[in-house]
Parts: sequence; structure tokens; C-alpha cells
Amino acid sequence: MRGLMQHWPLTVDRIIDHAADWDGDRPVIFRAADGDIARTDYAAIRARARRLSTALAGLGIRPGDRVATMAWNNAHHLECWFAVMGMGAVCHTLNPRLFAEQLRYIISHAEDRAILVDPCFQPLVAALTAAMDWRGAIILLGGDAQIDRAILPHALAVETLIAAASDDAAWGGFDEETACALCYTSGTTGHPKGVLYSHRSTVIHMLMTLQPDVFGLSIHDVAMPIVPMYHANAWGMPLSTAAVGCTLALPGAQLDGASLHELIEREGVTFSAAVPTIWQGLLHHLAQTGGTLTSLKRVIIGGAALPESIVRGLRDHGVESVQGWGMTETSPIGTHAKLTPMVAARPLDDQMPFRLKQGRPPFGIDLKIVDDAGQRLPHDGVVPGRLHVSGPTVASAYLSGAAGEILDDEGYFDTGDIATICPQGYMAIVDRAKDVIKSGGEWISSIEIENIASGHPKVALAAVIGVPHPRWDERPLLIAALHPGEAASPDEILSCLEGRIARWWMPDTVVFVEAMPLGATGKIDKKILRAQFPAYPLP
Ligand code: ADP
Repeated sequence: MRGLMQHWPLTVDRIIDHAADWDGDRPVIFRAADGDIARTDYAAIRARARRLSTALAGLGIRPGDRVATMAWNNAHHLECWFAVMGMGAVCHTLNPRLFAEQLRYIISHAEDRAILVDPCFQPLVAALTAAMDWRGAIILLGGDAQIDRAILPHALAVETLIAAASDDAAWGGFDEETACALCYTSGTTGHPKGVLYSHRSTVIHMLMTLQPDVFGLSIHDVAMPIVPMYHANAWGMPLSTAAVGCTLALPGAQLDGASLHELIEREGVTFSAAVPTIWQGLLHHLAQTGGTLTSLKRVIIGGAALPESIVRGLRDHGVESVQGWGMTETSPIGTHAKLTPMVAARPLDDQMPFRLKQGRPPFGIDLKIVDDAGQRLPHDGVVPGRLHVSGPTVASAYLSGAAGEILDDEGYFDTGDIATICPQGYMAIVDRAKDVIKSGGEWISSIEIENIASGHPKVALAAVIGVPHPRWDERPLLIAALHPGEAASPDEILSCLEGRIARWWMPDTVVFVEAMPLGATGKIDKKILRAQFPAYPLP
């Protein structure tokens, strides 16, 4: 017997329609291209997005076409999202930090029909498209006067298009399984692979984020996604904020500690999300200036392991930080290290081991760890295995079948992460499969060593890689970038690990680097470090 409720396809246009109809005057604040803080609201965003849809249709964009964006977190980028997704086309967010060669590959592979671009990225888009057979439209997110005609002679200005377009866009009304967004993984191995989200998966993901133990947003929040809209769709935050009608604060291109601090204090930001390096930058800025955080209450930190020093540093400013784990293929919410009542009842020091794990799955995600033969492993917190995930917001295949079949016999996706799951249900990443260090046949968790080392007051960033060793196969090497003006000896840094890790995990030495190589999503690029430090004896 079938239920008798209404058929109401879960499509993204409904999110901005709801925001505009019911919370239309709620603010969307953003740092504009000139660095100034600008303001708009959900009603204006919908109005402009609808006109932009009409204009895109006028340029020949049809449902299913891929339309790329290359833009920071700002209101114009958000308008592009709703304009493209609302008309049934696919919004393909380009990560400007990828190598040019990868970007060209991605643009061709996705068969993008147009690129909507922030003014600052004109030189990059000009260089990219000049070196390929580009026939699509290039639309500048600004006025005609901002177009650099010397390098983009045929570009169109979004302001001109919106001003001339009508409001009668054909929005929504399609099947909820229709594709709405496309993100490529950064392709640390092989070519980048396209993850194609559907309207249904995106709306379900938004609902998942609203669970109190995930983002837990309310209309009273001022939420600031620092994680870029081109990195797994800013973890879905701009859609979550629109759905609850809370204030959305978008930080634009300025992600340094001082700029973020200014925006947080000026706008009363209460909730935010970013990778650990961003919080390290903010805490360093606060330490140097004596600044305080008066409004910020909760932050989600993910994308890379959360060091204890950040949890404690933010706590000293009255901010509760929660670690999240996820990946482009999981939309990206996978787990959150929210405290269970049993853990919350403990003193902070005893909570810490749980806070530093990657966390528990919210409703909508299932996890398992398996051995190399695909057999499930126990949740004893000790035995590590390959982490597999399933759910309506997890990829079932990559665009155009890249990498072939990606699900196991039970329909779970192999994340490529090695993890343990403890009896309390907390998953802990030991390493990415490609980063694991095996010494004398046993795994050493680089993540655990990095977490402790990066808590040293002189250390800005720490990374541990395995270097080939004649006797032990591999030994861990600690690479550290110190805060500006600091100096330290290897022993000084290693001493903070003593008694906190197994003796045989102790890195043999520490190498200091001026700057840590960061990948396109702001994470430490261990591939570069491995190439730099290929073997013992070390330089
Ligand atoms: P990529 O960096 O490969 O482009 P993602 O941004 O999707 O792709 O990164 C996903 C990966 O980042 C995960 O598979 C995991 O290895 C790592 N990761 C994400 N969150 C965490 C976390 N909280 N702790 C440790 N690793 C994490």
C-alpha cells in the first residue's frame, strides 16, 4: 500500500524560494571584491538568481548543461548557484587553486558551456581558455567596466545580463534525481574525478546538516562558511542557512586571521566552519593582537585532523569546536565528534580523546571498517581497516564512469581512509591509505603525531611522512614549519611527543621548512613533502 502524501520533489530551488518567501529580509553579508563588506538579503538573491537563469537560457544554456563558477564565497557566487541549479543545469564549482593543467582537464571533461567568474580570476580564466578550444560564454560577476577587455575581449557582465533579463525563469518542476552540482576531487592520484550531486541528495544533505548534533543552525545564528564554496560546496552551509533563514556572512577572498576576526566581530558571527589551518591562523592573530571573540560560539573543523591545541585555544576564547570528517564524495558530511552524554559527563581532559576522533555518523550515513578481503572488522577502537560509507548523500559513481565501479558488494563506497571505530561509536582516521606509514610491519598514525606536534607553541604546521628505511621499511619523519621569528632544535620539538606516543612511533628527527606546501583545498600536500624528502640519510 502506498502512502497518500503529496509528491513534492526535493529540489534546490525550493530552498531559496522558502528563504525568499518567509525570510526574505534576512541578511546575506559578504566581503566584496574591493574588500568592503556589502549586504543583501535572501529575497534579492532570489530575484537576481531568477533573472540570471533567464539570461543563461537566452545564451543557450539548457537543463543538464554544465555551467562553471570560479568565485570566492560571496553573494554573487550564491546567486550563480541558485540560477544554475534552479533552471535544472549543473553548477560546476572550479577550485582556482588547482594546477592550470588540472583545471583545463576538468573544464573539458565536464564539457562546461559557460564560466561565471569573479573579477580577480580574469587572468586565470583568460589563460585557461586561451589554451583550449573554448567556445562557451565567459560571464564576469560584476559590471561591464570591470571586464579586462585586453584579455577577455568577448566576456559578458553579469550586471548587464541581469538588468536586461526578465523574472519569468523556468525554475524547478523537474525530477529530484536531476543533477544539480558537480565537484571534482583534487585528484591526488590520477586525474581529478567528478562527483555529481543530485537535487535530492543536496536537499537531504541540507536536512542532515540541520540536525542539532551536526550544524544545529537556528534563525538566530549568524553563520559564516569559511570553507570555500568551491570545496565540497562549502560543506553545504549556504543552503542550510537559507533553509533556516539565519544571517549568512561570506568572507570573500580574505581568509587571513585579521580579516576573519574583523568580520566575526563586526557582524556578530556565532557559527562557522573551516579547515584546521584557518583556525590556526585566527588563533595566532588573536595571540599576537590580544584580540577576543565575543560572539562566536560553535565551529565545525574538518577536512584534515583537528589538533588538540586548536580545541583548547578556541575554548580559551569561549568557542566550542567540533571535528567533522567527510569528503567530496560524501557531500561532504560524514561524521561529527559531538559528545555523547556519557563522554560529556567527563572532565575536559578525559573528553579529549573523543573530541580528537573524527566522530559519529548522523542519521543518513552508515559506516563500516573492513579488511583487505572486504570482511567487516570489530568496533573495538584498536583494529584499523578501510573505511566504507553508504547513504543517500554518498556517490555511487564518478562522472562518465571514471574509476569504474566504486561500491563494494554491500553498496558501500571505499573512502580510501584507514580508520578505527571504538565501542562508543566514534570513528578515528588513522591515515589516508596512500599516506600510511608502515614500520616493522605495524602502522604508525601520522595524524596522531601531527596533532601533538602542532600543539607545540613554536610550531605553525606539522606533517609526518614515512621515509624508506633499510631495516624498518619506513620510519616517520616529522616536518615542521615554525611561526615567524621562532627557532627550535629537533629535540625541543620531539620532547613534546615523549610519553604521549609509543616509543617506536617517535620520529627519528625533525626537519624544519620555511613554508609547508599546501594543496588546492588548504591541506598539507604530503606528495610534495615525500618528493622533497625521499630517503634516509636525510638532508
Ligand atoms: P581531496 O582533499 O582529496 O580533494 P576532500 O576534500 O574530499 O578531497 O578530502 C577528503 C579527505 O580528507 C578524507 O578522505 C580524509 O582523508 C580527509 N579528511 C577530511 N576530514 C578529516 C578529518 N576531520 N580528519 C582527518 N582527515 C580528514
